Order: sequence, then structure tokens, then C-alpha cells
Amino acid sequence: MFEYAPAPESVRPQIKEHYGLFIDGEFVDGQADFKSVDPSTEESLFTVAEAGEADVAKAVAAARRAHETVWGPMSGAERGKYLFRIARLLQERAREFAVAESLDNGKPIKETRDFDVPTAAQHFFYHAGWADKLAYAGLGPDPRPLGVVGQVIPWNFPLLMLAWKIAPALACGNTVVLKPAETTPLTALMFAELCQEADLPPGVVNILPGAGATGAALVDAAVDKVAFTGSTAVGRAIAKAVAGSKKKVTLELGGKAANIVFDDAAIDQAVEGIVNGIFFNQGHVCCAGSRLLVQESVAGEVLERLKARVATLRVGDPLDKNTDIGAINSAEQLERITALAKAGEEEGADAWQPACDLPERGFWFRPTVFTGVQQSMRIAQEEIFGPVLSVLTFRTPDEAIAKANNTPYGLSAGVWTEKGSKILWAAERLRAGVVWANTFNQFDAASPFGGLKESGYGREGGRQGLEAYLDV
Ligand code: NAP
Ligand code: MG
Repeated sequence: MFEYAPAPESVRPQIKEHYGLFIDGEFVDGQADFKSVDPSTEESLFTVAEAGEADVAKAVAAARRAHETVWGPMSGAERGKYLFRIARLLQERAREFAVAESLDNGKPIKETRDFDVPTAAQHFFYHAGWADKLAYAGLGPDPRPLGVVGQVIPWNFPLLMLAWKIAPALACGNTVVLKPAETTPLTALMFAELCQEADLPPGVVNILPGAGATGAALVDAAVDKVAFTGSTAVGRAIAKAVAGSKKKVTLELGGKAANIVFDDAAIDQAVEGIVNGIFFNQGHVCCAGSRLLVQESVAGEVLERLKARVATLRVGDPLDKNTDIGAINSAEQLERITALAKAGEEEGADAWQPACDLPERGFWFRPTVFTGVQQSMRIAQEEIFGPVLSVLTFRTPDEAIAKANNTPYGLSAGVWTEKGSKILWAAERLRAGVVWANTFNQFDAASPFGGLKESGYGREGGRQGLEAYLDV
């Protein structure tokens, strides 16, 4: 293995000591303050105001005013100009956002720089283009916005999930109140500053940091739609809370994806896809390929090459450009991963981890591969949301499909084979919102993303994603 000298990012973003709530175009005080830490050092990065019920009501009222007086009546072409401006500003400040995201979240700079931030900008460019073409989206001749949208997002892709939520909502003429996750509010607050820089009319975008209670208050507030990304448990609570009201809901929830490797697959390519599928973003990915289903005849070879490859992954400083696996986002998440991995061992699966040094401070988990996994085990059924792969084997294609579909989730799946017909055969039978063939974790603003079963309902991205923000 090559030895690399450390290559830490040298450009530090300007992080303020304290951030307020962003309501009606201004930063204001909240009901209390909390702090956000750098999970790779456990050091406090900044303090931030927490939004209470009264703040939520104020933000929703501001969004309502902005919708009725400015943003709703504005032509699509004008709205598009604002979105293009936001997209360009994000590109201009890409490096700053990338470093900030790595600091607040713990994910490697390689990923924030090459994936999170450019993909977030792409979402704004893509939806900017839709703003004046909604009449041609096949959703009726004059589709109308819903009004005010309450949005709640998780910590695994803070800026990207914000973009997935805000870009389509604004393009369709809605105004938004968004709650970022408690552990990762930084890039949402920097985005609020960017809205000021873009001269976005006050009240069109409101950002309310806080914890679960703030999210719950937002769901209960006088909004016309709730858009949520997060766990299935909270998604269920939200569906209950809005049942019987006129609020529309979309839910993007958890997953337990199968990554299926057939015996005719290009093995080295598949191994890269398996590694990307589960170790990208520390496995904090809803559509992570957390279950490897490998055909028995090639299982030995695949596992051998997989372990050799995993042994080369670098775990450590998120701001080092050589780092492949960064910090786990929080002490709580680390606890959850540790408990599920322990359950795997107790239920009789075999854990393998490469030898690697972990930093002394911060939240870390070694990449882990479980073999001897049975379908009934918790590590085969529950979402671990960490760098932990569960390996199962199969003999026939039918068995692969049956095992792949044997979870309550249905978000994504991967298929590795050299035969196009086998790809189509499998894709037709897999109960998943997206099926990747000979690749994994591919995202594009033009491509709808979303789940089946307990992975939620509604789509984000593409023409289909617009429907969720229009009265059709
Ligand atoms: P989570 O606990 O459900 O939190 C998601 C968001 O909801 C956070 O902002 C959270 O606030 C807030 N929240 C908590 N309780 C709430 C309540 N009662 N009412 C309203 N909002 C509430 O999920 P997480 O553990 O942070 O994120 C991981 C989960 O998200 C995984 O299951 C993953 O699969 C899923 N996910 C899905 C997708 C997708 O597109 N399908 C994408 C990414 C992640 P706090 O920050 O204070 O907890
Ligand atoms: Mg943080």
C-alpha cells in the first residue's frame, strides 16, 4: 500500500461564533441556544439559536406573506433568475461550503468537494430551468404552487438535502420554512446568508435550527405541505400528525438496499461498487448498499478481493484529501452502530475489520464486513446507517430477488452482471424506487428519487419531483 503524507485542507471558511434563526430575510434570536460540534474532534464549532413554537409561527407567517405578495405572483422566468443566481453563488463559494460541511458533519472533504456541493448546485441549476416551463411538465396547462412548505431534513447530506427540498419548492412558486438537523445546521445557515447575497425577497426562504421538537412544531404549523427526509419512525409520526388535515406530505425514509452480484459480473468493478455502496459517507446513506447478496460460486473470490480493497481505505481527518472514511456524525449515531454490530456478533455472524488506527478524539467506526449473515438477523433487517456491510449468499437468481425484497424497506438496489437481459429481469422484480446496474449511488437532478414500502412516498428530482410541489 502507498504511504501518503497528510494533505489537510488549508482554506478555512469564516464560521461565525453564533448564528440566529433566519426569518423574513434576517437573522434573529430564538428561545434558547445550542452548539454544534466537529465530530472528528468533539470540539464546539459555533452556537446557534433554537426555534420554539412562536418562532415557527413567525417564520410561517413570513413565508405566507412572501408567497402571497411576492413569490406567488412573480412570473416563472423571474423566479428562475433568482434560482440561477443562487446556483452560481453556490458554485462560487463551493470550496467554503465543502470545508464547512466537512467540519460540521465529519464527512471527507473529497466527498463534500466532489459530490455534496456540486450536486446541490446542480439541483438549483436544474430547477431554475423548470421555473418558466411548468406549463410543459405534463401536469396541466397552468399548475399552481401549494403555498407555504415546511421542510425537515437529516444530518447525512445537510446541504444536498436542503437543495433537494428548496430548489423544487421555489421553482414551483412556493415559499419555505426549513429545519436542518440538530447536529448539522452550518451549511443551511450559510445558505441563508447566500439568500441575502442573492437578494432573494425576505420570507421566501426561512431557516429554523432546532431539534425534534422544532420539527414537530413545524409539521403542526399552518403550512400547506410537509416534506420530510429522515427515519421511518419519525416519518410515521409525521404521517399521523398531518392525517385528517389538508396538508400534503412527501416522506423520504430509510432503506436496507441489496447489492446483488451475479457470478458473471466483472468482479473488480463489482468490488468497487460494493465499497462505494456501503462506505461512501461512512454508510450514512439512506440508499446505501448495506446488504451484499453474492452468488455462492463467486462468493469466496469476491470476499477476498473485497477485504483486500477495504484494507486500503483511509479512516481519519475529514479535512485530509486522502481520507476515504471520515467521522461518524454524532456520539448517538456511533452508539447505534456499535449496538447493532454487537447484535450481529451475538446472533452468530462473523465480523471482519481491517487493521487501522483511529484518531484518539472524535467519533469513529472501522469499516466492518459481516459474513455468515442470516436473513432473520437484525444486521440483515435493520438500517445500521454506518460503515457496516452484511454479506449473504444465494444460488439462483430467484433466490437473490426473494432475499433482496425480504425487508420492510424499498428504496434502492444494485445489480452486477454482464448480461443486459438479467439486469432487466432483476429490475422488474426488485421492489425498490431505484435500481442501479453495474454502478451504485448515482444521483442526478433530472432523475426522480424515492421509496416504496416503508421507505416512504413521493419523489424528489426530475419532472416527477415537481408534482410534489404543485397543486395538481
Ligand atoms: P430522524 O431522527 O428521523 O431526523 C430527521 C429530521 O427530523 C431531523 O431534522 C430531526 O431533528 C427531525 N425530527 C426528529 N423528530 C421529529 C419529530 N417528531 N417531528 C418532526 N421532525 C423531527 O433521522 P436521522 O437519524 O437524523 O437521519 C437518518 C435517517 O434518515 C435514516 O433512517 C435515513 O435512511 C434517512 N434518510 C433518508 C433519505 C431519503 O431520501 N430517503 C435521505 C437521507 C436520510 P433532529 O436533528 O433534532 O434529530
Ligand atoms: Mg456538527
